[in-house]
Amino acid sequence: MKCVALTFDDGPAESTRELLDVLAARKVKATFFLVGENVVKHPELVRREHEAGHELGDHSYTHADLGTASKKKVMSELTRTQDAIRRASGVTPVLLRPPYGSMSERLTKITKEMGLAQVLWTVDPLDWEHRDSEYVEKRVLKSVKPGYVVLMHDIHPTTVKAVPKIIDRLAAVGYTFVTVSELYGGKLVPGKEYGQTGRRMVHRDDSGAAQGLP
Ligand SMILES: [Zn+2]
Repeated sequence: MKCVALTFDDGPAESTRELLDVLAARKVKATFFLVGENVVKHPELVRREHEAGHELGDHSYTHADLGTASKKKVMSELTRTQDAIRRASGVTPVLLRPPYGSMSERLTKITKEMGLAQVLWTVDPLDWEHRDSEYVEKRVLKSVKPGYVVLMHDIHPTTVKAVPKIIDRLAAVGYTFVTVSELYGGKLVPGKEYGQTGRRMVHRDDSGAAQGLP
């Protein structure tokens, strides 16, 4: 089966409503990596995401650079977001997408303890930079392959406008849309990294110097 996971970061926001309508009309499941401070602004959207069968993931409370943050800061960013999502939806995420793809050994240890798998991406249409629906659509369609994780941002109305065409074109060539946990057969291991071909920064715990930059 040709599967692909559509993921949407940084919400929820006003534009998330339209995206949820688009996904519902096409019976497509996606994964939302939520920013805690937006979860508390729009708890009803988080509940709606969960009730529609989408997967909810943690994307920190303030969109923080977790790879360079102290242990105390990382714990605070993650636990506050987990709590906010739990209060809004009743579910506790098992996925973390580190903002900016910024990671560290310290973060890996903490996510392992907290039961969070670290999910990066394999397609990045740079939709935050190019607020152009046609550009986003073309970039995704050009790069996607079976088993890929597509990174988009539902806080941008231009991205939301690109989603119907992305779904319709991929469905026409046989793709099935799954959540991130479904993509990996429900066997994600806490602390482990998934979807590693994306933009990625790994910081040493002591110096904060970046390793493994492309
Ligand atoms: Zn983000």
